[in-house]
Amino acid sequence: MSNIIYMDNAATTKAAPEVLKEMLPYFSENYGNPNSIYGLGQKSQKAMMEAREIIAGAIKAEKSEIYFTAGGTEADNWAIKGVCEAYADKGKHIITSTIEHHAVLHTCEYLAGKGYQISYVGVDENGLILMDELKKAIRPDTILISVCFANNEIGTIQPIREIGELASSKGILFHTDAVQALGKISIDVKECHIDMLSASAHKLNGPKGVGCLYIRAGLKIGSFIHGGAQERKLRAGTGNVPGVVGFGTAVKLALANMSDKAEKITGLRDYLIEKIRVEIPYCRLNGDYKKRLPNNINFSFQFVEGEALLIMLDMKGIAASSGSACSSGSADPSHVLLAIGLPHEIAYGSLRLSLSEENTFAEADMVVTALKEIITKLRSMSPLYEDFIKGENTCIQK
Ligand SMILES: *Cc1c(COP(=O)(O)O)cnc(C)c1O
Repeated sequence: MSNIIYMDNAATTKAAPEVLKEMLPYFSENYGNPNSIYGLGQKSQKAMMEAREIIAGAIKAEKSEIYFTAGGTEADNWAIKGVCEAYADKGKHIITSTIEHHAVLHTCEYLAGKGYQISYVGVDENGLILMDELKKAIRPDTILISVCFANNEIGTIQPIREIGELASSKGILFHTDAVQALGKISIDVKECHIDMLSASAHKLNGPKGVGCLYIRAGLKIGSFIHGGAQERKLRAGTGNVPGVVGFGTAVKLALANMSDKAEKITGLRDYLIEKIRVEIPYCRLNGDYKKRLPNNINFSFQFVEGEALLIMLDMKGIAASSGSACSSGSADPSHVLLAIGLPHEIAYGSLRLSLSEENTFAEADMVVTALKEIITKLRSMSPLYEDFIKGENTCIQK
């Protein structure tokens, strides 16, 4: 399908043509092992170093603080498990939030099974972390606070600097998953007191299977993948040279005129939000309206089954998501939507549209037309909607 309307950029993005072009020679003529002494190897080494510099610059870090991984999930695993191993003497208590990505939540669950104690701090109705609850959760044996920079489902941007200042004032390490934030909003690891930060290339028009963990200089965490001496002896395995080159190129592209692009996408986002609100009754926008990723839209539609909505949108060539791709197909509603207080039946009827620069106003109009038609149809088949129309049910719209 060539004329698909793709609004699932929080799940993954299309590699930019420049990214692909920069990557290609590192599959063919520049195939050297970056750890080899001869010229061909050094060429790969240099290409990785350039990418490292670009990515470090993007988050105001040093290039020696960037460690390449096989994606955001590995970076999250490494950060959390690495701290647990290195700081076991100090304590076994970790603080995170109820709306983290599964890469963080499931890692914490795994550690809970190993004797670690995890506090899950709640969020308000817009998904903003409850700072008072976070402060209260801190204990003498807390070794780590891990909070996502910007949520992948509802787009809410957390008060990262405030959390970083709190963690640092208490001598607790602070990790943030910035997979959705990198390239969309500005990030300054020093200013925000971030000790570790996870990023991934494929969420910003780079290739899949490559990401990085920023580890603040001086912070001691152990290896997670053992083997050769790559990545300053902390992450073994021959470098993914084409992937890293693509990651660097993608970050460079994202950073160029980032605020102009964000403004443009925000314009389209707000247009779509308004249009959905006006044209489709009994809907609710999830996530903070202001502290929100420029490309995120998340709505709940009452009396609608989310999976059915997605399938019917797909039949019209529209690619969207019900929340996180990882939970699609599972019977549970999104943990993020439940955490912001939505009842199960409302959380089930949710839709995430995540935009890219390539989306147009014409596409936005087509999506609203399709949504209107599909939702009308689904509601006409819903016994709950029938009851509601007869005045025997309540609605969510304020
Ligand atoms: C996509 C995503 C991840 C996982 O990154 P991968 O590179 O796909 O492993 C982690 N955290 C967040 C917030 C994400 O959106």
